[in-house]
Amino acid sequence: PFSFVLLFVLSRLMSIIGKRRPWTSLLPPELLSLDLATRLHIDPAAISLASTDFGKLTRVIPAAVLYPLSPDDIVALIRFSFSSSVPFSIAARGRGHSVRGQAMAHNGVVVDMRSLNNDSNGNRINVARSSSLGWYADVGGEQLWIDVLLATLEHGLAPRSWTDYLYLTVGGTLSNAGISGQSFRHGPQISNVFEMDVITGRGELVRCSRNTNSELFYAVLGGLGQFGIITRARIALELAPTKVRWVRMLYHDFSAFTRDQEHLISIHGGIKGLDYVEGSLVMPQSPANNWRSSFFSSADHSRIASLANQYGILYSLEVAKYYDDLTADGVDGELESLLKGLSFIPGLIFAKDVSYVDFLNRVRSGELKLQSQGLWDVPHPWLNLFVPRSRIFDFDSGVFRGILKKQNKTSGPILVYPMNRSKWDDRMSAVIPDDVDDIFYSVGLLQSSGMHDWEYLENQNKEILMFCEKAGIKVKQYLPHYRSKAEWVNHLGPKWETFKAWKNKFDPKAILSPGQRIFTP
Ligand code: FAD
Repeated sequence: PFSFVLLFVLSRLMSIIGKRRPWTSLLPPELLSLDLATRLHIDPAAISLASTDFGKLTRVIPAAVLYPLSPDDIVALIRFSFSSSVPFSIAARGRGHSVRGQAMAHNGVVVDMRSLNNDSNGNRINVARSSSLGWYADVGGEQLWIDVLLATLEHGLAPRSWTDYLYLTVGGTLSNAGISGQSFRHGPQISNVFEMDVITGRGELVRCSRNTNSELFYAVLGGLGQFGIITRARIALELAPTKVRWVRMLYHDFSAFTRDQEHLISIHGGIKGLDYVEGSLVMPQSPANNWRSSFFSSADHSRIASLANQYGILYSLEVAKYYDDLTADGVDGELESLLKGLSFIPGLIFAKDVSYVDFLNRVRSGELKLQSQGLWDVPHPWLNLFVPRSRIFDFDSGVFRGILKKQNKTSGPILVYPMNRSKWDDRMSAVIPDDVDDIFYSVGLLQSSGMHDWEYLENQNKEILMFCEKAGIKVKQYLPHYRSKAEWVNHLGPKWETFKAWKNKFDPKAILSPGQRIFTP
């Protein structure tokens, strides 16, 4: 009789709530009895936002969107799904800056992580120090890196490893790796995490680090959201500089360009090394200034454009040296000795000084400009690859000087820069090329198109991947996108069995991040 009364009360409650807001038949109505019910939205605005991402290539419709007030809401949601006879899928959505639907959940629930930022229970970015770790910041997984930067700078500190663009969430980049020009020196962002709080696919909130629950720690870093939702990460900090000397040098010879890049990333042991090393292509159709950063004056830009016409492709080596008032006097001398003997085209070296914040946040102004022109929210069929160093010349001739030049239609920045394998922890889920060489290259083809003509870029991407396969260049996709299990097995290589075992352990019902298309429930 008691359970009968309970059912009766529940059904009355549901019909009262149901009168106020319609419910979806895709989710069990019992969800409405949970505390979080009022934070589950099924209105068209919420559904529409969670059905798209930065790529604008994929549309997947969830049944509902949860706007959690605290991690407890996420625990309750996952527990509910986990104990249901027919579990529904759940995807954390950071800023939805994936390009292939990775943060989407077909007929499931998308968790809008950013709403944790409204948690009234406390500050979600806290700086502290311990004798074993030094300075660190405890940050919510939903935090944007720009906010982490601004909050830590108040203490004269900052994270060491970055992405080029800062309006991404901590949980989103740690689920991939988080790479930029500092990675050669400090490793990707995942190499700079001490500890995390993670809600697994069983709905258990677990604290993990290298020493405690280490399997979950290694699984989650670079784990593509497959093993748990990061609600807090403890990030390593360093003393923040105030200024940056930012330098670009131009090359027409790819072998001189890569030789100099590799030389520069090898001088990182002492305080005299560079703080940032990247590189990019300058082509007639892919100019030196673009949304990623507007660096050159208009006079220099025209001169470089005409040289790019003459050579077909120029390579721009981009470096930075941090300094502050105390070290300002020495920066010229240090840079001079670091750059001595490099083989860029004589005279084609450009330098400027910017504040540390402006340097790290260099992509933002380009974004705002494109937004104002209606050119930011357009399709982005991006392709990011890690290329073994031993094949980077074949990649240059086959892809940069082959496919891209032949099509003569690139439309966006193309990045190419080396990193050191030794700064990556092979126990983590993130995948880099299987190789003996310590150096591998990151290549980012960050192209965009008009709303309806992105297919030629997709075809170009396919051609590039096909070329690599035929030529036996064993690239690994970064921010990977595959459709079949066989492709995932190949991508993860020797890590596949461990990845699968971790999935069985931490998310056995395959509830989390279905948009990665690795496991099916
Ligand atoms: P989302 O797209 O929201 O999520 C990505 C994946 O992570 C999804 O599977 C999602 O379910 C999962 N996820 C999200 N939050 C969590 C969480 N808290 N816990 C567990 N899983 C979670 N990457 C670089 O490395 N370097 C760069 O320089 C760089 N520059 C970029 C510039 C731009 C303009 C853009 C659009 C992207 C760039 N990226 C870069 C790629 C970016 O790091 C990834 O797309 C990242 O996933 C985006 O973060 P997000 O918060 O939008 O994640």
